Amino acid sequence: MLLAGELYINGEWKKSKSGQTIEITSPYLYEPIGNVQAITQKEVDEAIDFAQAAQKEWAQTSLQQRASHLYKWADALLANQEKIATVIMHEVGKSLKDAKSEVTRTADFIRYTVEEALHMHGESMRGDSFPGGSKSKVAIVERVPLGVVLAISPFNYPVNLAASKLAPALIAGNAVIFKPATQGALSGTKMIEALHQAGFPKGLVNLVTGKGSVIGDYLVEHKGINMISFTGGTDTGLHLAKKSAMVPLVLELGGKDPGIVRQDADLQEAAKQIISGAFSYSGQRCTAIKRVLVHESVADELVALLKGEIEQLVVGSPENGSTIVPLIDDKSANFVQGLIDDAVNKGAVVVTGNQRKQNLIHPTLLDHVTEEMRLAWEEPFGPALPIIRVSSDEQVIAIANASEFGLQASIFTKDIDKAFAIANQIEAGAVQINGRTERGPDHFPFIGTKGSGMGAQGIRKSIESMTREKVTVLNLAL
Ligand code: NAP
Repeated sequence: MLLAGELYINGEWKKSKSGQTIEITSPYLYEPIGNVQAITQKEVDEAIDFAQAAQKEWAQTSLQQRASHLYKWADALLANQEKIATVIMHEVGKSLKDAKSEVTRTADFIRYTVEEALHMHGESMRGDSFPGGSKSKVAIVERVPLGVVLAISPFNYPVNLAASKLAPALIAGNAVIFKPATQGALSGTKMIEALHQAGFPKGLVNLVTGKGSVIGDYLVEHKGINMISFTGGTDTGLHLAKKSAMVPLVLELGGKDPGIVRQDADLQEAAKQIISGAFSYSGQRCTAIKRVLVHESVADELVALLKGEIEQLVVGSPENGSTIVPLIDDKSANFVQGLIDDAVNKGAVVVTGNQRKQNLIHPTLLDHVTEEMRLAWEEPFGPALPIIRVSSDEQVIAIANASEFGLQASIFTKDIDKAFAIANQIEAGAVQINGRTERGPDHFPFIGTKGSGMGAQGIRKSIESMTREKVTVLNLAL
């Protein structure tokens, strides 16, 4: 049955006056699964007006009142887990197991966000600690909401990466304009249906669907938006940063996370972590391991282990629980194939893979990748992993840091002192020692440096990014 997505504005589901819809085709069923509305600029204006009005009252409610709605939303997501997960599977081609975990993780995220907010308190300061200051001045420092938050999410975690913007925004007293990735908007709609059941005030959360290339700039430049939280590609993030003006911005962008394997690493464990890091959901994760920098003395052994692990990965339809699934669209598959072809033409050795059927690319391991090849530097967002052989820690650090990205890195070694020494020099938001690169657990700070982003996520950081400090000073007659 085709899903008919609608706009959710002022607590009501409606079709757009544009009369236009965008068809959503499943990346593995190869047939339409539904459509979403193409919103007009006038409807964007209306949604923002409703959000502004609702936010004023919401900001006056108690934290306990806000919490009760958010808890109900988490409950509704779990109550509808199977239905939501099935839409995620159909729409973005993720296995049902992974899609269900995405829903559970989202409910956990929402609950933890509430609990974190309930335990965040302001501070007070006395004036006399500054030279010439007086005890009679007392500053009360509190966090207040920013207003209307524009949340723009990517396709790969269409529920989790949306809720991780909505939940902190709402608990902090903001209203939200939610613009999901178009491929991902049906899943986002299911998430909002659960939110609707939680009885939030009308207009507080509004779902606006439409192509980013058509309505993105209008949303980002809109005077009614007070903060933008964006997750997506680096080019889109850069474009958005240039368009927005004087509005706080948090950007979570692409990555090229290195998996660094020293000569003293537990190679079997490193291989397992690298495979899970690189190939889960066909590598369509921002924190996927996207290059391996391995010491030449253990490279042959590591490559053999990686090959063995890769050849056990299940390839095919997400309905069979496959790890390697068709990529989100043909354009993405063409891009990954282009990176593989470029590397092969320049002398890289195909260890396994380099087979393709439509948008399904088999897991591909390329050895002897050099710095002249695009795959050494560009983010495939697909199952193609380059092996770059290195001869020293210094070379590792130089290549790791020469990237335009700086999301995460993994270091595999038994020498914890060396691990720390390398970690200290890597330009990345987080360095994992003896583990794969990953975003969670969700209360850890999640940070992209350089082309990987701006600002910090992670539950507490997200709440802080969607609030500002406000100072009230008491001048006492002491
Ligand atoms: P994308 O193409 O950049 O799209 C992301 C979002 O931006 C979508 O909602 C898109 O809408 C919207 N958009 C497009 N043009 C816009 C504009 N001019 N103004 C405002 N919004 C606009 O990224 P994607 O393909 O969905 O996701 C893959 C990328 O996201 C990868 O690079 C990945 O590394 C990154 N990512 C990063 C993180 C992280 O936490 N660092 C997490 C996940 C993914 P439409 O869909 O309608 O075009």
